[in-house]
Amino acid sequence: MMTETTSSNQRYSSLRSAVHAPLRKIEKMTNIHGKQAAISEYFGNLTFGLAQMREKLPRDAYQSLLKTLDHGKKLQKETAEAIASAIKEWAVMKGATHFCHWFQPMTGLTAEKHDAFISIQHTNHSELRVIERFTGSQLIQGEPDASSFPSGGMRSTFEARGYTAWDPSSPIFIMEDESGKTLCIPTVFFGYHGQALDNKMPLLKSVEALTTEGCEFLRLIGDVDVRRINATLGAEQEYFLIDKQFVALRPDLIMTGRTLLGSASPRGQQLEDHYFGSIPTRVRHFMQDVEHELYKLGIPVKTRHNEVAPSQFELAPIFEDVNISSDHNVLTMEVLKRGALRHGLVCLLHEKPFAGINGSGKHNNWSMSNDKGENLLEPGTTPHQNLRFLAVLSVILKAVFDHADVLRASIATPGNDHRLGANEAPPAIISVFLGTMLGNILDDIETGKVAKATESQIIDLGVNKLPDVSKDYTDRNRTSPFAFTGNKFEFRAVGSSANVAVPMAILNAAVAQAFREATEKLKELLKEKPTRDEAVMEMTKQFVKHSKAVRFEGNGYSDEWKAQAKKRGLPILSSSAEALEVFNDTKATDFLVQQKVFSKEELASRYHINVERYVKTLDIELLTLIELTSSHVIPAVERQLIELHKVNGGFLSKSLATRHKERIQALEDVFGEILSHLDLLSEIVEMIATKSDETEKMNALAATAQPAAAKLRHAADRAEQLVADDFWPLPKYREMLFANTLS
Ligand code: ADP
Ligand code: MG
Repeated sequence: MMTETTSSNQRYSSLRSAVHAPLRKIEKMTNIHGKQAAISEYFGNLTFGLAQMREKLPRDAYQSLLKTLDHGKKLQKETAEAIASAIKEWAVMKGATHFCHWFQPMTGLTAEKHDAFISIQHTNHSELRVIERFTGSQLIQGEPDASSFPSGGMRSTFEARGYTAWDPSSPIFIMEDESGKTLCIPTVFFGYHGQALDNKMPLLKSVEALTTEGCEFLRLIGDVDVRRINATLGAEQEYFLIDKQFVALRPDLIMTGRTLLGSASPRGQQLEDHYFGSIPTRVRHFMQDVEHELYKLGIPVKTRHNEVAPSQFELAPIFEDVNISSDHNVLTMEVLKRGALRHGLVCLLHEKPFAGINGSGKHNNWSMSNDKGENLLEPGTTPHQNLRFLAVLSVILKAVFDHADVLRASIATPGNDHRLGANEAPPAIISVFLGTMLGNILDDIETGKVAKATESQIIDLGVNKLPDVSKDYTDRNRTSPFAFTGNKFEFRAVGSSANVAVPMAILNAAVAQAFREATEKLKELLKEKPTRDEAVMEMTKQFVKHSKAVRFEGNGYSDEWKAQAKKRGLPILSSSAEALEVFNDTKATDFLVQQKVFSKEELASRYHINVERYVKTLDIELLTLIELTSSHVIPAVERQLIELHKVNGGFLSKSLATRHKERIQALEDVFGEILSHLDLLSEIVEMIATKSDETEKMNALAATAQPAAAKLRHAADRAEQLVADDFWPLPKYREMLFANTLS
């Protein structure tokens, strides 16, 4: 099917280049013996984190930094100078010429403004001398021109200032490529009154909330010496790799990151041969290269494999503290994108680049640990650990049940709309999967089988057998948006292109709030019950009962589930347009304000920014679709019609002449459909543009423009099947998705 011809069609030359793409030589790290270095020898060598600080900083400075980290104390000026100087020395030694404050504005990307390390000194003889310089204040705070970053209406013009502040809990790193090396300082980004203008600040606040509320609860149940609770995250990243030559011929991929047209390839993923199959050579080279870069950046990538759809892959890191892991995921996405280009590929992080085959998600493996490093979701070996596990579990269940709507809103983007609820990704209904065994344990608790919470009762529950059982993949449910997988939860509904900081912040805040409620409840119960364990068991029982509706073990893809979820009163927010409204619901979002993760003003601004992004994204998609149809699809159809009419002479036999006429008729019918759908869509887009209210625009786009675009696409995709291969200008699905297997 992928034949090469001598046609002038650009597509064919792209196909040829894609198939013959040379393999890029991978840079090898060698050690002092000239041998290939082990990963551990270069892991993190482009980062400057706590370990390096301990080694390089004067003792006082390091101690004072630790105080800042542990108690949020302001960094002393002298300390900042000492740290800056150590960092500069290290960075210059590594070959960095510039530094930047690296931050995550609400555009969904990262931002950086580079400054050179140099500073000019005037000598006595009025000579200029250039030296490398980096001061404490340059390290700690920056003031990028913030007026072009979204604030959702939080800044009046005279307060258009924005500030970046160093987040010392995330390692500083050096970004390198052929053009040079830049020292990047992870920072939070905020406005004049301290309002968060980024995704990282709410996440840091949510971890504080989790620590405060979680520690109070844990102390009450007997973990008297607990000092910190951290959320942990391992974010599995899915992505597509498509040859750059094809992407260059697809305005839709360039403009929107997804294909707006394209007839399904006869072979998609139905043979199920791609998942975990052998990785194509060129892709393996790419992965090796990217992982090498990630290791140098201290990002612990662990697994790589093919995903379900053709040309779809996944990369999974080992989990870390949520703040670091979230930064690392953002960096990983950047490294994937840039690395792909080096190999003549384009990495698509969009949630649904191709219709008809699986889209991409980002499975957020999430748990909590205390300052001893114990995983709070690890069923333990002692009765106390097991009781703690069950209590914490019930707190999480309550959090997800009470705040399912806000969790759903946290992952609402136009890209994710194409994925959620399709038969491949978690439904748009938030529910929790626990597996039969854990489900049975909770049922036993609910029916009062273990009311006394004696040692033997808790052991009888079989909690400590859970880890063995969860290793068994048969008891896993891929259709659940929030699934327990042995010693952690997997929040699977997050989109592949998302910055995970916000969904993680909202999850942490929800759990923090549930911890607060658990503490209150437990204080009451401690007065009533004869023993503490009985009080804890009773609180667990009440929370399990309260949240029962959110537990679902069945097939999340089925229609029955939708009907049942409705009966249970769970929020069903099928589209972003519906889900985003939750940010306007002050009752639903009150826990975020109570936990000081977002202020009311910040929530309102998030709503506006999300709506605006939705509208802009759809606008771009629709305009691209209209242009593609007019400038690519229609001319190809016309060319084919002319060609067909040429054959119309008398040389065909009578029966063939009839068939030939039918062919013309079929194409003309499709042509007619394309033209009328195109007109309709153009009218709708123009009409929506006249609206002044963004929410109204969003709703109209979702309700009228999307369906009209789908109809247009349907007709155009039929045309693709009727027009000569040679006339079709856009790389086809079968080419884009399967070229990798030939190289
Ligand atoms: P599974 O077999 O359940 O998919 P893996 O061990 O392959 O489990 O882990 C999947 C992801 O979950 C990895 O990114 C891993 O680091 C992460 N993970 C494991 N334990 C935790 C934890 N306690 N907190 C957060 N993420 C975790
Ligand atoms: Mg997974």
